[in-house]
Amino acid sequence: MTPRNKPILLVALGGNALIRKGQEGSIRQQFENLRLPMRQIAGLSLDWRVIITHGNGPQVGDLLLQQECCDKVPKLPLEILVAQTEGQIGYMIESTLDQALSELNVAYRPLVSMLTYVVVDRDDPALREPTKPIGPVLAPPEAAEPVAGYPVRNTAKGWRRVVGSPEPVTIVERREIGQLVDLDFIVICCGGGGIPVIREGRGFNGVDAVIDKDLASSLLAREVGADLLVMATDVEGAMIHYGKPEQQVLGEITIHELSKRMEEGHFPAGSMLPKVRAGRRFALATGKTAVICSIENIEEAVSGRAGTRIVTG
Ligand code: ADP
Ligand code: MG
Repeated sequence: MTPRNKPILLVALGGNALIRKGQEGSIRQQFENLRLPMRQIAGLSLDWRVIITHGNGPQVGDLLLQQECCDKVPKLPLEILVAQTEGQIGYMIESTLDQALSELNVAYRPLVSMLTYVVVDRDDPALREPTKPIGPVLAPPEAAEPVAGYPVRNTAKGWRRVVGSPEPVTIVERREIGQLVDLDFIVICCGGGGIPVIREGRGFNGVDAVIDKDLASSLLAREVGADLLVMATDVEGAMIHYGKPEQQVLGEITIHELSKRMEEGHFPAGSMLPKVRAGRRFALATGKTAVICSIENIEEAVSGRAGTRIVTG
């Protein structure tokens, strides 16, 4: 099969692909955790052209903390830290995926991690109202003052720094990603939602903000003409009455039905809401399916046997 005959799959990996709940998150653990999703993606890549995107929450939080532990070198802004996590996580994904491909006796499959810029609108109100928590929970005395220039808010988990989370407008490298995928490269990109930039003429300026990785992945999926969007996380799918005795995983659901569930308030901002919004946007724009599934079930979800499947009516 020539690459162009293979459909395009975009897999967005949640934070738990690298660090499981309750783990310290050592590099050894992160490599170990990646084996399960990478084995599945390696298998799928025989029949699909593949794009992998990923979160970076804990990793960027650790880098932020490192900034504050040392005054001997200049402090780095958030956009630089996001770029660093795209490099470090891209490296870990590539090496684990290459190993998984060799276990499948795939002699050669080109892989590439791409630094990705995502354009945001300078007038996006989210840039003026920081709401997205980043970095570790801070002890109350520290919480009184902005830390490293970031405002601090009392969030569901405790006192944390917050930044703006603007809407992604376009993925700067969408053409390059599309061309590489057509050559059957497996492309790792949009890490941490991408580096948010504002256009300045032909150039770009980074901004201190974080783009939701599921919304960025959905946009990229539309811009490169992906056939299936899979968002892999640590639950089996989107649930109604989450956390209550009557909680229930949604299976196949139409956009119309999903919109009703969203209005009823089943999905909180910052976790499940961006996933269902990302899936709805993809399905609405393309008429194709978006799936929310667990990291264990990526292959099952691709074959239609697991996860919440968001479909047009
Ligand atoms: P990721 O790193 O994969 O983006 P998130 O923490 O952002 O992970 O989102 C997944 C989390 O959303 C789950 O671990 C779950 O605790 C939470 N969640 C909140 N509401 C729901 C819901 N209605 N259905 C399923 N999961 C939910
Ligand atoms: Mg998330």
